[in-house]
Amino acid sequence: MVKWEKIINPKRKGGLGIHDLRKLNHSLLCKWWWKLENKEGMWQKVAEKKYVKNNTITSLKFKATNSPVWKDLLRVKDIYLRGRRFKIGNGRSADFWRGRWCGSIALIAKFPELFDICNEQSGSVYEFAAKGWRLTFRRWLDERLQVQIRKLRDLTATALSQEPDSPCWIWEKSERFTVKSTYSHLCSDAVEEPNNQIWKAKAPLKIKIFMWLCQQNAILTKDNLSKKNWHGDQHCCFCQGGESIIHLFFDCPLARYVWSLVAYVVGASCRPNSFEQF
Ligand SMILES: [Zn+2]
Repeated sequence: MVKWEKIINPKRKGGLGIHDLRKLNHSLLCKWWWKLENKEGMWQKVAEKKYVKNNTITSLKFKATNSPVWKDLLRVKDIYLRGRRFKIGNGRSADFWRGRWCGSIALIAKFPELFDICNEQSGSVYEFAAKGWRLTFRRWLDERLQVQIRKLRDLTATALSQEPDSPCWIWEKSERFTVKSTYSHLCSDAVEEPNNQIWKAKAPLKIKIFMWLCQQNAILTKDNLSKKNWHGDQHCCFCQGGESIIHLFFDCPLARYVWSLVAYVVGASCRPNSFEQF
């Protein structure tokens, strides 16, 4: 009775926290990109020689001759690139326009108009530095674009070192890749709806899930049954009111009586103890 899209949201987003396998799979695949850039091994060597060659990861494209595994990795490349930025070293791995290496946004997103008319649209930071950071454009830059190019030059005025560029992960405090942070980012478009009162309650899990179902109006009370073409008597078993979740658990005279008993028992169990302590 609750939509699957709602159920697979994390608990803090109002769902039941059941994992969405597609998103989890994408997050796990992203880990391979991280390993490719950060660890050394036989498969990394093969992938570097066969697919990456001298390109930056940002500029890799689909090819019909790619192996199915590599195609799957390319499908999640954009997700990976959203979370990865570079601490710049020698500039050989970072893509000048598309990579995030100076500030949190790629230059292509920060200066889209300059990129559109720029003659040098691809290459690593190292290649741009080797050309003295010189950019040429297809047409004359007006005053506004002149201001933009000055800003771009200020941003990119970096001295490169001999060290390789080091990738860091922006969705994790430690700056190291985690599947959890990637998964949580993929779920980030859902609205916050923490339900702390339910999930932090000291009650068994099945009771918490039952409370969550009540909150979603997803219990088969008679009003909900009638929405599913059930034609029985819709009155409450204990009184003449219509049976709904609110009625059954709060408004029905019997429910009120039960709650008053609970309040009495809780009150009674607190009072003598507190007096005895005094
Ligand atoms: Zn009733």
